[in-house]
Amino acid sequence: MRATVFVAIVMLLLAHSAAFSESAPPQPAADKKELERLPGLYRVAGRGGDVCSVYCVLTPEPVLIDCGSRVGWNQLTGNLKLLGLSPGDIRWVIATHGHWDHMDAMALFQKDFPSVKFAIHAGDAQFVITDDRVFSCADPLYKGVESAPVRVDRILLDDDTLKVGNVEFRIVHTPGHTPGSIVIVTELQGKKIGFGGDSVGGYYSLMNRSSTIDWENSLKKITALDLGWYCTGHGTDPVDSKDEIRAMINEQMEAVASKRKKQESDEPYRGLVDEMKKGK
Ligand SMILES: [Zn+2]
Repeated sequence: MRATVFVAIVMLLLAHSAAFSESAPPQPAADKKELERLPGLYRVAGRGGDVCSVYCVLTPEPVLIDCGSRVGWNQLTGNLKLLGLSPGDIRWVIATHGHWDHMDAMALFQKDFPSVKFAIHAGDAQFVITDDRVFSCADPLYKGVESAPVRVDRILLDDDTLKVGNVEFRIVHTPGHTPGSIVIVTELQGKKIGFGGDSVGGYYSLMNRSSTIDWENSLKKITALDLGWYCTGHGTDPVDSKDEIRAMINEQMEAVASKRKKQESDEPYRGLVDEMKKGK
C-alpha cells in the first residue's frame, strides 16, 4: 500500500507536465464491483494528479468525500450512474481541503444540480469562495485550467459532526498541507475510517499556506485517531492495516521534519485559522 501512496505522489508531480494535462479525461468503470471498496463505500473518480480519489458513502442520502476536478466529471457521473445515482441525488460533498483537484467539480454541481450542498473547513473556505487560483493550484500547478468560485453551504470547524441520514462524519482539523485540511472520520461496516485528502502524502508549498509546525501536530493527531482504514487523496485503494497507516504517517512526519530543518523562520501561515478566529 505504501507503494500506492508513493505512486500517488509521483502522479501528483507528473501533473506539472503539459502532456499529462492534455491527456484524455478518465473514464467510468465497467461495473459497480470495480468501484466497491466496502459494501456502501465506493471510489467513484480519481486519476493521480488532476482528479483526486473521490469516495461515495452510499446510503439513501449519499455523500461524496471530495468531488475531484471538472476533468473527472464524466468519470464521476458515469460511475454514479453505475450506483443508480444522478449527480442531483448527492446530498453533501465534504471537501478534505480547497485544492482544485479535490473540489473544482463542485462548480459544475452548483450550476446544474444546485440542491447538492458543499462543506469545507474555515481555513480553506475563503479561497474557494473567491476562486483563489494561486491557492487552489489552478495556475501554478495545473497551468491555467478552468475554475470558478464555489458556494459554501457549511463552514466546518474542528470536532464538528455532520450527520447525514444515519451516518455521522466527524471533522478532525489537520492543518499543514493547507490551513483548512481535515480528516473526515466515520464508521462503516464496523471499521473506523478516515478520509484524509492530502493530510498524509501531500506536498509543502507556501502558495498552499503550508505550515510544517501545524503539519507535525496534525500528524500526531491523526496517529491518535487509531484508524482502521485510511483513504488517501490520490491512492486507488484505502490503506487497510493499522501498521501500514502508522508507517505512512511516520514517512510523512520525516518528510515534514526534513522540510522544517531547511526552513529558516519561514512559517508565515502557521495558525492562520486561530488568528482568523480571534478576528485579527
Ligand atoms: Zn492538496
